[in-house]
Amino acid sequence: MPELPEVETVRRSLEKHLLGRIITEVIINKSKIIKFPEPEKFKFLLEGDKINSLGRRGKYLLFCLKSGYTWVTHLRMTGQFYYVKPEESLLKHTHLIFELDNGYQLRYVDIRQFGTMYLLRPEEFKLIKGLRDLGPEPLSNGLSFDRFCRLLEGRRGALKQLLLDQTFLAGIGNIYADEILFDAGLHPKRLVSSLSLQEKKALLKSIQKMLQLGIENRGTSFRNYVDGDGRKGSFQELLKVYGRGGEACCKCGQPLTKQKIAGRSTCFCSTCQK
Ligand SMILES: [Zn+2]
Repeated sequence: MPELPEVETVRRSLEKHLLGRIITEVIINKSKIIKFPEPEKFKFLLEGDKINSLGRRGKYLLFCLKSGYTWVTHLRMTGQFYYVKPEESLLKHTHLIFELDNGYQLRYVDIRQFGTMYLLRPEEFKLIKGLRDLGPEPLSNGLSFDRFCRLLEGRRGALKQLLLDQTFLAGIGNIYADEILFDAGLHPKRLVSSLSLQEKKALLKSIQKMLQLGIENRGTSFRNYVDGDGRKGSFQELLKVYGRGGEACCKCGQPLTKQKIAGRSTCFCSTCQK
């Protein structure tokens, strides 16, 4: 699933094409992607509207429109946007086509069809639970160490579970959670309540460092992730633990452990991570 660095990369790749564009027509082949409002209303409202800016919140892409509506997309497992000329051959699983006033198309392709779209007024954001309950952005300047410590207060359970919890911080998923914990030298099963001040500092530093590194490398491309220009990321080449169960740890040489933690496949070094 695309995580914060992948969604941010998609956002940046689309921004340069879509700013100021007017959506002239919306073609809906698969209406189940559109969760709110009704697909017919979604189409009616979106047609003729202009894209003023592209934002992101956690793993959500936010197209801010001139009308005041926000067109919200969550790519989930396999959702992809492609900015193409109309003569470009249509990929299988193209579920939506957005015609633009410059003659180009924005196409939405999604093999698994778990992606979701909404068109929301500001006051309607609270209707979408996933959006309403999002924790702070891990890379925002507003996330000071003091605030991070307050967010940790009263949190129970293991670190792996905490990092995946979108109400704690927005945008971290399975890949970056494993890399963050390895970088911080913290065991994925460590209880949040057992962290020392130094360990909390290391955790916040690793969260910001690994997400930033992910963005700089334009995301992690496993399976099918590409940005809006069809380009793959390269962070998969820098992964130290994710997907490497059984391989030698790059720090100590011991084989990495693969285990299901918090319901997700987790890779870590039981020697380097305490
Ligand atoms: Zn190790």
